[in-house]
Amino acid sequence: TMGLKPMNCPSHMLVFRNQRRSYRDLPLRIHDQGVLHRNELRGVLSGLTRVRQFCQDDAHLFVTEAQIGPEVQALLQLVKELYSAFGLGFRAKLSTRPASRLGDDALWDQAEDGLRGALEAAGMDYVLKEGDGAFYGPKIDFDVLDALDREWQCATIQLDFQMPIRFGLTYVGADNTEHVPVVIHRAIFGSFERFIGILIEHYAGAFPVWLAPVQVVVMNITGAQADYAQSLAARFRQAGLRAQPDLRNEKIAYKIREHSLQKLPYQV
Ligand code: ZN
Repeated sequence: TMGLKPMNCPSHMLVFRNQRRSYRDLPLRIHDQGVLHRNELRGVLSGLTRVRQFCQDDAHLFVTEAQIGPEVQALLQLVKELYSAFGLGFRAKLSTRPASRLGDDALWDQAEDGLRGALEAAGMDYVLKEGDGAFYGPKIDFDVLDALDREWQCATIQLDFQMPIRFGLTYVGADNTEHVPVVIHRAIFGSFERFIGILIEHYAGAFPVWLAPVQVVVMNITGAQADYAQSLAARFRQAGLRAQPDLRNEKIAYKIREHSLQKLPYQV
């Protein structure tokens, strides 16, 4: 029997359970960019931001309780690096234990302290969302701010104490007895489709050179320069640039206007 998966979590739990694990294996990180499907209602589908088939930069980190802090700190660093590469601002939100929840309070204390401590160690400002956590654990969500200051939820770091119990996951500790790992669900881009949609809005179509699908276009004015334009484009490509010739039999002003509208970074 085959099926479409709406999320990666269960399959990663099975990968973990597939063999005997020791504390020396932890943290164990499983990353998956496989295709996911969710049967969203037609009315809520929207451009690239809400689709029925998508990919996430999804990972599940299997850690000991003591590893929660350092792992989350490394993730916060990754969030910072990644969003600053795109020039996107972001806002962190820490969601704590909801009224109805699973697990004892000592574990929740430890988990919330772990997340709070990691945020503070990273020097990251955050908004506290008291009681907004999932029933299985607290989380840090990130809202990305685009050029128009609109908020988009992208990255998420969620602690989970319940799924490992439900899937019967254990590892052998240094004390030679079995322990249940903590799972950190994390996505930094979120869905790639959605992230690309946000980038298009953020840059208003004018991608920075390193991201532009075509970086250089080489245009000829008459047929006499066609060979040269072509060889120049080839030289750009050899130098590692995404370059294309535009040898159409059109007026140069027409070509320039067209590539300008496409916000192509370099026109030669
Ligand atoms: Zn997950």
